[in-house]
Amino acid sequence: MDVDLKTIVEHDLNDDCPVCRTQDIVEMALIPAASAWEIANGLPRYAIAFHGAAGLLGAVMNEGISREDVETVLAQLLDEIEAQITEDQMMGGPPQGTA
Ligand SMILES: [Zn+2]
Repeated sequence: MDVDLKTIVEHDLNDDCPVCRTQDIVEMALIPAASAWEIANGLPRYAIAFHGAAGLLGAVMNEGISREDVETVLAQLLDEIEAQITEDQMMGGPPQGTA
């Protein structure tokens, strides 16, 4: 594996953290776009979300990253997101809808 997947999951402790910048792009651009594509194409809710995520990860696997590495990184990211959701809910805010 000649790609350092740690740079994708490990936060850099400065204002220019690539993990945080990526998460901002996903939250501000990708999630609303996926939702809009589902609606515009009459697709079931989350269809683009799941197929888009799987397709993107499939492209990564196609470039030679093992499925095991993909699943390890994905699990780590989902753990972080899940913890963030729990934290947001404990702060009393309503869950953010994407629709
Ligand atoms: Zn960060």
